[in-house]
Amino acid sequence: MQQRFDVIVVGAGPGGYVAAIRSAQRGLQTALVEREDLGGVCLNRGCIPSKAMLRSAEVLGLLHNAAAFGLQASDVSGDYAAAVRRRDTIVAQLARGVANLLQSNRVSVVKGDARVADAHHLDVAASGEPLRLEFQHLVVATGSHSTSLPIAGASLPGVLDSDGALRLQEAPRRAVVIGGGAVGVEWADVWAAFGTQVTILEALPQLVPTEEPEIARELARAFSQKGITVRTAARVREIRSKDAALEVTAEVGGEASDDAADIVLMAVGRRANVAGLNLEAAGLSVGERGIDVDEHMRTDVSHIFAVGDVLGGSQLAHVASHQGIVAAETIAGHGGHTFDPRVTPAAIFTQPEIASVGLHEAEARKGGIPVRIGRFPFAALGRAQASGDSTGFAKLIAHERSGEILGAHIVGPTASELINEMALAMRLRATLADVASTMHVHPTFSEALLEAAWVAAGTPIHIAGGSRRTPS
Ligand code: NAD
Repeated sequence: MQQRFDVIVVGAGPGGYVAAIRSAQRGLQTALVEREDLGGVCLNRGCIPSKAMLRSAEVLGLLHNAAAFGLQASDVSGDYAAAVRRRDTIVAQLARGVANLLQSNRVSVVKGDARVADAHHLDVAASGEPLRLEFQHLVVATGSHSTSLPIAGASLPGVLDSDGALRLQEAPRRAVVIGGGAVGVEWADVWAAFGTQVTILEALPQLVPTEEPEIARELARAFSQKGITVRTAARVREIRSKDAALEVTAEVGGEASDDAADIVLMAVGRRANVAGLNLEAAGLSVGERGIDVDEHMRTDVSHIFAVGDVLGGSQLAHVASHQGIVAAETIAGHGGHTFDPRVTPAAIFTQPEIASVGLHEAEARKGGIPVRIGRFPFAALGRAQASGDSTGFAKLIAHERSGEILGAHIVGPTASELINEMALAMRLRATLADVASTMHVHPTFSEALLEAAWVAAGTPIHIAGGSRRTPS
């Protein structure tokens, strides 16, 4: 096998494999080193398998509600193990797709554990002979791992991280989820649909704390209707074995609360994978949260780049892929590519979905930015009513004078799809008038954005209460 490469990428998640493909497309001899499965956490143990389980949960919910659609569906019940099998088939199929893409782009895939030997060499330990590879450029895309809490009982059997949650072959009877972020609420939603009694313990005063408060309230309301218990401002003290199960003690509003569970999901964040990489041997130091890079994804060693979760910033698959492309293009000499965190859309795939991009209203106001807000409820849309899915609303935040869109926050049907229109609008520095004067297909969920732009301008069509103002 060839041993000298223009680019070696370590880690085949959505940051690494995308960087490798783009770098090979640019004519660079590229190797991709991975010790586990191609596709990384996102494809194998994160985004994709959880979306497959969430879809099963959603369909189960629809079937339970069949009568509302004029349908009869009796004896509806979930088969968790079958949903897991469906999920695993999807993951395997997509993983084969990634392998094919790498092969057709002539990326050399090297299986094994990478360790930097010096500024231009990498040792790869695999089951066979150890390999020494030479690189002109290195892209570190090693991802992250779940963290735990330093509390008693955190390593008891039955206390799982998101990887452990994925290994379950049946829905637990009772689950306590520690952490009300993306991982916590998505798994809570899956299990609740399959009949699990779920309690979420979130340390901060709001569920999904990185979202706007009114968005989080809408999710909390929906969760409450599904029978999910949410305790915010909860300080988890310890986990104990009790009666062949687990008990989680927390302090909530100054009072002790004890929740019994068959499993406890620890969903309190992720940390950069840097241990064992020996980056110091190439002269690279690692910061507190992860590897520091500039806008071209270049580290302080000029031929070494890093992308994705290992930076410790926004730990999202699409951020990693975007950064992977920036790194590859920069290495290929296309220096105009930069990573701009201003427009970083994000989504949480619960029912209802949540999605956001740009500033929160409170952030804008705190920064002294004069803003104009437009909100539009899905309940006022024909498509939402026809679909039987009219929870939530879209909210646009725009500059009061210029009308430039500064943020968008959506809770409701297809939020994860709708947000991409707003990401494009923000990237092009579009205004409320641009959105308001763009025809949107009727009847669609994206009309919520059109209508929200009209609301912000004071001239809504499908909701009462407009004044007369021209969108700017
Ligand atoms: P997170 O940081 O999103 O959420 C962790 C939550 O745990 C926070 O709300 C935090 O306040 C809470 N917490 C921390 N310490 C606690 C304690 N002692 N007691 C109770 N709660 C506590 O992390 P995550 O949900 O584990 O997700 C990890 C990463 O993966 C995140 O960056 C997330 O954005 C990403 N992710 C994204 C998606 C998606 O895009 N849909 C899905 C899953 C994960």
